[in-house]
Amino acid sequence: MADAIATNETILVVGAGISGMTAALEAAECGKQVVLLEKSPSVGGRVSQLYRYFPKLCYPICGLEINLRRLKANKNVRLITLADVTRISGEPGDYTAEVSISPRYVNENCTACGECKQVVEAEFDNEFNYNLNKRKGAYLTSNMAFPQRYVLDPRIIGTTDADKAKQACKYDAIDLDMQAQTLKIKAGAVIWATGWRPYDAAKIQPYGYDRIQNVITSVEFERMLDPFGPTGGKLVRPSDGKEAKDVAFIQCAGSRDRNHLTHCSRICCMASLKQTTYVREHYGDEAKSSIYYIDIRAIDRLEDFYQKVKNDSTTHFIKSKVASITEDKETGNPILHGVDTEGYHRYSNPHDLVVLAIGMEPSVPRDGFPIEVKINDSGFIEADESNGAIFAAGCASDALDVNRAVQNATASALRAIQVINRVSGMEG
Ligand SMILES: Cc1cc2nc3c(=O)[nH]c(=O)nc-3n(C[C@H](O)[C@H](O)[C@H](O)COP(=O)(O)OP(=O)(O)OC[C@H]3O[C@@H](n4cnc5c(N)ncnc54)[C@H](O)[C@@H]3O)c2cc1C
Ligand code: SF4
Ligand code: SF4
Repeated sequence: MADAIATNETILVVGAGISGMTAALEAAECGKQVVLLEKSPSVGGRVSQLYRYFPKLCYPICGLEINLRRLKANKNVRLITLADVTRISGEPGDYTAEVSISPRYVNENCTACGECKQVVEAEFDNEFNYNLNKRKGAYLTSNMAFPQRYVLDPRIIGTTDADKAKQACKYDAIDLDMQAQTLKIKAGAVIWATGWRPYDAAKIQPYGYDRIQNVITSVEFERMLDPFGPTGGKLVRPSDGKEAKDVAFIQCAGSRDRNHLTHCSRICCMASLKQTTYVREHYGDEAKSSIYYIDIRAIDRLEDFYQKVKNDSTTHFIKSKVASITEDKETGNPILHGVDTEGYHRYSNPHDLVVLAIGMEPSVPRDGFPIEVKINDSGFIEADESNGAIFAAGCASDALDVNRAVQNATASALRAIQVINRVSGMEG
């Protein structure tokens, strides 16, 4: 292993979604040295996978673009992608993180011209689109990826595809001998901003996600609407490509449930309200959105957004926890079964497409976190003195929307800065 990089006056930020980027930039713009680690080939996290985001329904590129400009302009941040922390040892003001870095097989010469992609034949599931389509073995995570640098999938290394890619590259950017590396990074404080992942919908057996093609998740729905996504932005059914004009949204799918996630994921009510506007945007007055809910949790100023959606004649609210979904084999329609708790009617309602408002599960390894920290029953990192100078930011600390994740990340940056000021004797 190489000698340690950075010093104990550095802040280490793990995860470069909106929260990690915010924490890193806030600290760097206060003059602190920051190392920002990201596990995937590019930054932006799950926000970059949204089609639009509430409350203003702007495209994620807007918010991310500002942060990317700040990141590019700030010499205090050192970004390392394809990086994962395996161990952290030490104490507040003096930590050492062991980090493993996977090879990208593409160096800084890359101009993102895409020639390598043209000649590579092997295709793999596209993780960025939640595996709804395929991508080539030489790829850019998304059009707005930062760094704008291609990646070779390790599964093509040693195959003729890798050789073809290398030959196609006019910029000498492909290095097939690149090896995995292990780095030691010194830091005075660590901000853990690894965010969340969608709960595994296949575990909610009565909803048939793994059996019924026209049952999808809310994160997949976001990708479907993106003009650069798997359907080119068309709102159609996976089974037959038919226009999906009548869409049902099932709330609390995997959340507030003893058998799955016990916490309220907080975002999914707003996410479904937002997604009804996508159906309206596509099909106008012919659109029909039905929200099956227990209770709608729209927080603070987002209440206005809820009222706006409620007043739309194409949107219907059914107060009910859906019991099960079956499939009409002839039409491909999913049929929702349950009891409407307002009128106590039994229903069996067919829809073109069903969207599960899937729960948010923290991406915090409960067993095997690289250093001892307090993790609560839902898997989020607790703010606790015993954590020393390991601070959670964004959805590693709770299920939060972007606005709250950014505020939380800024607070974490401030805590980390205070530790560094103590280390460097700036306090007092
Ligand atoms: C369906 C849906 C729609 C939503 N729509 C909206 C909306 O319209 N408006 C809104 O405000 N919010 C919305 N949200 C919430 C929004 O996605 C979150 O607020 C946001 O993603 C939080 O950002 P984050 O940086 O905390 O986490 P993430 O976006 O999850 O970023 C975490 C980053 O850490 C990286 N990482 C993970 N593990 C490691 C590791 N071990 N080492 C290094 N890096 C790691 C990940 O690759 C990722 O880049 C929505 C959520 C859902 C489920
Ligand atoms: S690796 Fe080479 S061929 Fe591929 S996108 Fe980059 S510069 Fe172009
Ligand atoms: S935010 Fe809404 S859909 Fe999500 S878990 Fe809470 S109540 Fe259920």
